[in-house]
Amino acid sequence: MVKTLFNAEGKCKAKTWQEALELLKKGNHDFASGVTTHPERGRETLFAQYLQQYPFAGILSCADSRIVPELVFDVGIGDLFTCRVAGTVLSDAVIGSLEFAVEVLGVPLIIVMGHENCGAFRACLNPELHPNVRGISWQIMPVIEECRSLPGDHLYNSIIANARQVTKQLKTVGPILSPKIASGEIKIIPAYHSLSTGKVTFFDYE
Ligand SMILES: [Zn+2]
Repeated sequence: MVKTLFNAEGKCKAKTWQEALELLKKGNHDFASGVTTHPERGRETLFAQYLQQYPFAGILSCADSRIVPELVFDVGIGDLFTCRVAGTVLSDAVIGSLEFAVEVLGVPLIIVMGHENCGAFRACLNPELHPNVRGISWQIMPVIEECRSLPGDHLYNSIIANARQVTKQLKTVGPILSPKIASGEIKIIPAYHSLSTGKVTFFDYE
């Protein structure tokens, strides 16, 4: 269990990354099966948490309008600490946000979630890349190039490779995440969210 001031109260729904992953898997199975429970999304849930939050997982995902982690994992207000940025790429602000989630809030699990048909990757595959996309493309383009020779769908391969690459980078940054990962206290797992099925596939965690 991650020892912080806040989750020492025992209100976090998962004490370990394994428990957190099981909650996400169960919620996503329900969502993809069409049997969601829509838990704890009313204003009363928000009001009850106005003094403190107890998220059990951090989600780094795309800013895409179709990506709504609380929906696809069938969880409620306060369950997920979510960072969303186009292309699911890193920045100092994203790293600092995830470090806050782990160090201050006691989140034991972070998911780096790419998604099907990501517009940021589609834009980077376009030779007439819009100038505004260049703020993220310098991170995405090397991954796209690395995947160019792989068999299968280039877009799909690149999105998954990016989630794995970002996960790898997070494991080596700063003094907060690296030692907790090395000790097994927390886990960072890459994942792929299929928009056409609702399913989230988790990679490389066993
Ligand atoms: Zn996207």
